[in-house]
Amino acid sequence: MDGIGIFFEQKFSLGVRTISRIRKTIQRTLVLDAVRALCNHPTMDAVFEEVRRKFPGIGRATVYRNLLQLAEEGKIRSVSLPTSPMRYDGRTSPHYHLRCSQCGSFLDIDADLEPFLQARINVPTGAVIETHDVIFGGLCPLCSGGFSNEPGAASGESAL
Ligand SMILES: [Zn+2]
Ligand SMILES: [Zn+2]
Repeated sequence: MDGIGIFFEQKFSLGVRTISRIRKTIQRTLVLDAVRALCNHPTMDAVFEEVRRKFPGIGRATVYRNLLQLAEEGKIRSVSLPTSPMRYDGRTSPHYHLRCSQCGSFLDIDADLEPFLQARINVPTGAVIETHDVIFGGLCPLCSGGFSNEPGAASGESAL
């Protein structure tokens, strides 16, 4: 039993099944909150570290399982990159990304998805395209030297 279970067992004398249910809900909420709070497209390791700051007893596998479930349910988005670990995004509305080639940070680009991209490609027979991802390459505001102090100008940089 981890820290969460022990806390509820000692505090409220609840049954094992109830504790298990409460623990799962709390773990899930902690993981979701961590992804949203970090707001810099954290990796699984970064989410794990964030959750563990609040509940040191939580296991890596638990965090990973919750990330997968939340992504499957559409509560968060998973963003896969060719040469780095999967990132998780608390912003679920469709948007594009900029990946900084210098520091590796990952920023949101505010743009509507371009429907023409999907309309113009040759879809393999029998395949159905539902969405698409675009990751622009370039430099973030800090690395380009064009950093602005406007609020939110470098929101993707904070924890990198
Ligand atoms: Zn950068
Ligand atoms: Zn994003």
